[in-house]
Amino acid sequence: MALIVQKYGGTSVGSIDRIEAVAEKIAGFRDRGDEVVVVVSAMSGETNRLTALAMEVMDAPTPREMDVLLSTGEQVTIALLCMALEKRGYGARSFTGGQVRILTDSAHTRARIREIDGTRIHAQLEQGDVVVVAGFQGIDDWGNITTLGRGGSDTSAVALAAALEADECQIYTDVKGVYTTDPRVVDSARLLATITFEEMLELASLGAKVLQIRAVEFAGKYRVPLRVLSSFEEGEGTLISLEEELVMEEATIAGIAFERDEAKLTVSGVPDVPGIAYKVIGPVSEAGIEVDVIVQNAAADGSNDITFTVKRRDSEQAREILEKLSASLKARDVSLDKKICKVSLVGVGMRSHAGIAARMFKALADENINIDIITTSEIKISVVVGEKYLELAVRALHSAFELGDPQPAISGN
Ligand code: ASP
Ligand code: MG
Repeated sequence: MALIVQKYGGTSVGSIDRIEAVAEKIAGFRDRGDEVVVVVSAMSGETNRLTALAMEVMDAPTPREMDVLLSTGEQVTIALLCMALEKRGYGARSFTGGQVRILTDSAHTRARIREIDGTRIHAQLEQGDVVVVAGFQGIDDWGNITTLGRGGSDTSAVALAAALEADECQIYTDVKGVYTTDPRVVDSARLLATITFEEMLELASLGAKVLQIRAVEFAGKYRVPLRVLSSFEEGEGTLISLEEELVMEEATIAGIAFERDEAKLTVSGVPDVPGIAYKVIGPVSEAGIEVDVIVQNAAADGSNDITFTVKRRDSEQAREILEKLSASLKARDVSLDKKICKVSLVGVGMRSHAGIAARMFKALADENINIDIITTSEIKISVVVGEKYLELAVRALHSAFELGDPQPAISGN
């Protein structure tokens, strides 16, 4: 018997038929004797629908009222799911975030969980009930309803699993798990049986949007074993766990992430003096623009080129800021290239295996792909290349690192 926290996302509870299917799934776990706590999202599209209603009333609704409004989506699904379970003869109880005392700070629409009181849930489980909790919401010290930011039900589930010391937190979604790369780009993309928290964070933040990043951080911090799996298809999904627990799969590279909507700005010929990087990057980030990859290169003539990437939608604004500064920076030129993308190779095995970067660059060279920028971290190597090479680069790397092949059997020694 295990205590499992299961989270079902919006598409998994998107219609009455799907809610019935989720109830069937939960029934299966109960029949095996597991204790189940379920966290649900609002039915797919519902949070957007509610947001649109608010916008019809006013452009900038007060965050407190926004939370009162948005939290209703999840309240609908907890009740419907409990009904579907009761109909099948299973005891079930629904709770809003406030009822189970998911205590958050008061930052409406992006609140953070501070504490969860597991007493009520444990008591209900002891009576043999399935406990169904509304995701994405909590309550602050003054009893105000709060929400955790879009996609926040993942975080609710992980936080509950941590507080209840669950054996596993299972996130049911509309994909089978985490893949080596986007299957829409590479046919042979393989479902990963396991991945580490760190790798998952890199893949998630790089665009493989399977899980809310905060939920992964939370799970890593509180050591909650996290599994991503499909609510529509059978399968074990992907287990996200701590590195030291990953003895089964010794793959060096976990996967390849990419981002299409990037743009690159270069400020060239600025003097190579202390403070110049700050003078270039500072005003851009003060404007609220997120700066990603940054490279600075000092030339022999005492001048400097600073290149960095931003989201494409922010790039014109960034260029305007730099052009205004150009004279005071003594820059020779400010240029913008919107036709770039970023491709990253991710894997904890990079720590212990030499030559990964060389192998990556060779694979790109063999395809005649020019690399604009290279950056590395302990478990990631990213390259910025021309946008038109994105698919080719991802496929070349996927095959160079043999990511599509079944992993070798574990040797006995
Ligand atoms: N219903 C919320 C949203 O759509 C929370 C969630 O689904 O995780 O963002
Ligand atoms: Mg979601």
